[in-house]
Amino acid sequence: MGKATGFLEYPRAEDPYRGECERLKDFDGLHVPRPESDRRCQAARCMNCGVPFCQSDFGCPLHNLIPEWNELTYRGRDREALGRLLQTAPFPEFTGRVCPALCEKACNLADDGVTNRDNELYLIETAFAKGWITPRIPPVRTGKRVAVIGSGPAGLACADLLNQMGHTVTVIERADRPGGLLMYGIPNMKLPKEVVERRVRLMEAEGVAFLLNTEAGPRETEGYDAVVLCGGSRKPRSLRVDHTDAEGVCFAVDYLTAATRALLSGAASGISAEGKHVVVVGGGDTGNDCVGTALRQGCASVTQLEMMPAPPAARASGNPWPEWPRTLRTDYGQMEAIAVQGKDPRVYETTVKELLTDGQNRLTAAVTVRLDADHRPISGTEQTLPCGLLLIAAGFVGCEERTAEAFALTADARGRLLPENGSHHLGGKLFSAGDMRTGQSLVVRALADGRAAAREADAFLRKYTE
Ligand SMILES: Cc1cc2nc3c(=O)[nH]c(=O)nc-3n(C[C@H](O)[C@H](O)[C@H](O)COP(=O)(O)OP(=O)(O)OC[C@H]3O[C@@H](n4cnc5c(N)ncnc54)[C@H](O)[C@@H]3O)c2cc1C
Ligand code: SF4
Repeated sequence: MGKATGFLEYPRAEDPYRGECERLKDFDGLHVPRPESDRRCQAARCMNCGVPFCQSDFGCPLHNLIPEWNELTYRGRDREALGRLLQTAPFPEFTGRVCPALCEKACNLADDGVTNRDNELYLIETAFAKGWITPRIPPVRTGKRVAVIGSGPAGLACADLLNQMGHTVTVIERADRPGGLLMYGIPNMKLPKEVVERRVRLMEAEGVAFLLNTEAGPRETEGYDAVVLCGGSRKPRSLRVDHTDAEGVCFAVDYLTAATRALLSGAASGISAEGKHVVVVGGGDTGNDCVGTALRQGCASVTQLEMMPAPPAARASGNPWPEWPRTLRTDYGQMEAIAVQGKDPRVYETTVKELLTDGQNRLTAAVTVRLDADHRPISGTEQTLPCGLLLIAAGFVGCEERTAEAFALTADARGRLLPENGSHHLGGKLFSAGDMRTGQSLVVRALADGRAAAREADAFLRKYTE
């Protein structure tokens, strides 16, 4: 244990946000890192519990050795702390920025949990800054060739581990840049794209090949000894109303992709919220990213619709610690909307009933309606919102059929390539991982799943016996 009285002496202090008005002027990172001395105090708050729930199934899906690296951080032994972190965490620079920190909510300090995510980010960014992160080139190659389809967090984690095991790995990605939703999905302010590019360059230096702008099917993966499908869960759920094909109606990921592309190229975004009244359908994290992006692009207003009632302010009795708290959270985009518009952009128990267009099939307004407890529209509650851009952030219904069909695979009822025995092995030389196997989830879960698939593929390649 680091400091026996640490959690009594030091209050929890996260890396603070930049002010809303300041950060709305750019797409730069949201937080300001605390100084090193604060980091030692925050790490000192870890009690090294007998049963560290932060590492359990309630906490970190990677089972990171959190108490160990917190203690070493507190003692100023950052390099050793990093070593313990990297035992289980392939890319702390991603999770240190975008992980919802399941570990912190499972911490024995409950609502006052240790700031593990910020501590993790401090360790990895210190390591990059001090030149401790250098290419790890496997000393021996097995001669086995593996194709990983998709370069999201699952594909990157899988490729990284297989490469370290000595296999020769090629990541095949349909997009023009690697990273999956890390690149085109999660906005730059949450995860700056140079952070993704830095990791990809490092992996290339370690021997992983990236084949971009390439749709992978059986032909592209001929000649490989194993193929791991990490294509994501990218089929968006649409709305059951007319005119979803109108100009001004767009799926959230397409909109966020266009915004990132524009930012990286310096050109104007193909789909911009500038000057428009924006309605975001979906009250989740993706919807929040749309709110933050639309505000940065200079929208006239933004409203976020959510079908479900607002969650409670405190844990309900059926949702005890150390479970993830299903409580009301106000994320960065919503905070920004409150600062600009003077009120929370979220409207609960409401959906879109109708889309109105002009004679040229351009969206002009969205008619909303309130829903009762059984999600039935309540007549007489309709409202017409002027709307030039409607962003559908209503979740995902599974993997794209075209990749599954190309490999003669059938997704289950929830659109997943999940083998019945719960493994990653689909049969023959095919494996699956990440959202494609589990359904839409989190970066940290995709990383854990990619690593688990790598271990199964490695056993298959080496023909291990019991
Ligand atoms: C807008 C948004 C914001 C999010 N924010 C967060 C967050 O803050 N924190 C968090 O933990 N999670 C977040 N998530 C969820 C998280 O991004 C995903 O769970 C995670 O990226 C899944 O990783 P993956 O590797 O399985 O798939 P993906 O990241 O979807 O990557 C799949 C890749 O496969 C490629 N591909 C698919 N088929 C083929 C093919 N046939 N050939 C070649 N390439 C192919 C795709 O182009 C894509 O690049 C967010 C999701 C969205 C949509
Ligand atoms: S990856 Fe997420 S859950 Fe795991 S230690 Fe880091 S912040 Fe916590």
